[in-house]
This record gives sequence, C-alpha cells and structure tokens, in this order.
Amino acid sequence: MNANLCMACMPADKNKNGLSLDVADTGVCGGCKKVSDVFDLELLSEYRKLGLADLDIWRNLRRLRSSHMNPSSHEMSLDALIGQAQEIASKE
Ligand SMILES: [Zn+2]
Repeated sequence: MNANLCMACMPADKNKNGLSLDVADTGVCGGCKKVSDVFDLELLSEYRKLGLADLDIWRNLRRLRSSHMNPSSHEMSLDALIGQAQEIASKE
C-alpha cells in the first residue's frame, strides 16, 4: 500500500494544515502514481504528536516510510520511525 500523497491529490482539509515542502520527499504518489514531492500524512502526524517542528523532521528523520520509487524500495515500519523520532524529540 502506498500512503504517499502529492499536493494535487491531497484532500483539501489536510492541505490547509499548513503542510510545508520541508516535510515532503521525492516519491511516487499513491493517488496519481506520478513521481513528485509527496507527503506521508500518517507518519507526519506521529512526528507532530511528539512536538517535532518541520525543520527538525527535515533535518533528522525520514519523511516517507517508502518512496515507492522501485519495487525494492525499502519500507520502514511506522513503529521503527516513531522510535527514531522519540530519540530526536528527547534531545530537543
Ligand atoms: Zn498525486
């Protein structure tokens, strides 16, 4: 399953939450299937729950579980990435 969404495919209510390209990364969009700057909203919401700012995310963390750029793209689990984010958050 590809959770990535580009700005064009983003539901309007999510788009209004002040999404910055700082927290996007290059990948295949799960909506239109084009390669673009895409967002993994589920992952971002977990990062934000930890109080991480966009720039902290951009500097220190993966912004997508997987880019889905090729069939062997390594997909990281939400739990593993939340673990890394907790470490970063504890240092801020
Ligand atoms: Zn799209």
